[in-house]
Amino acid sequence: MRLVFLGPPGVGKGTQAERLSKQYRVPHIATGDILRAAMANKTPVGLEAKSYIDAGKLVPDDVIINIIRERLKEHDTKEGYILDGFPRTIKQGEALSKTLEQSGEKIDRALYFELPEEELVKRIAGRRSCPACKKVYHTAFNPPPQEGVCTCGTALVQRKDDRPETVKERLAVYRNETAPLIQYYKERGLLSQIDADQSVEAVAKRVQDAIFQKKSS
Ligand code: ADP
Ligand code: ADP
Ligand code: ZN
Repeated sequence: MRLVFLGPPGVGKGTQAERLSKQYRVPHIATGDILRAAMANKTPVGLEAKSYIDAGKLVPDDVIINIIRERLKEHDTKEGYILDGFPRTIKQGEALSKTLEQSGEKIDRALYFELPEEELVKRIAGRRSCPACKKVYHTAFNPPPQEGVCTCGTALVQRKDDRPETVKERLAVYRNETAPLIQYYKERGLLSQIDADQSVEAVAKRVQDAIFQKKSS
């Protein structure tokens, strides 16, 4: 099961990918998470990516494509994976198709999550994450049992790029650079559209339906 999760920032891709990954025991590969780990470890990639991420811009395609090529060589990807936040440009989409073709593989489905912009802004504004175990919460929609603290005991933090001044830029970048991938996967008969304006459980049900009925839109 090789899946691509496509959609604007804050739509709930990571939340759904995490659930599905546990259920099917396939890795959840999120380029945003890989980049944040690289930044935390101050690796060369992390240092290069920081200025782009902090400004709400995309990290250059060649950097991201290399990261994904290396990640997909790892053994745990044999039975499939969920790509969350990659591809984010047509160039990345083409590179992915080409890489898979070379090993006689293909993407099974691209799920496109849709949500009105005002809801995206609310989801992003309330997002908090655990720097230790990476669990993601929402101050109102998915609060931790104890305010500001993860169930693992660590204090929750807000991503720097989730602050309102950066969010506008990220939404514009999404519209200009990532949204064209909707058409890209539609043309290849791989796209399923998911209404993300529902509870986490209800969206998860739609995800299941999209994967197993292979309904395209
Ligand atoms: P969200 O899912 O909230 O949109 P991510 O965690 O996926 O955020 O990404 C955070 C930031 O990391 C992006 O704004 C961008 O700067 C960078 N990034 C992540 N994935 C990619 C990618 N595939 N191509 C370029 N930049 C990326
Ligand atoms: P993405 O990976 O697409 O950027 P996340 O999965 O990180 O999105 O979700 C963004 C925020 O919205 C998080 O705070 C998360 O807890 C919350 N969230 C995710 N799905 C839902 C949902 N269906 N309803 C309400 N809040 C949600
Ligand atoms: Zn934690």
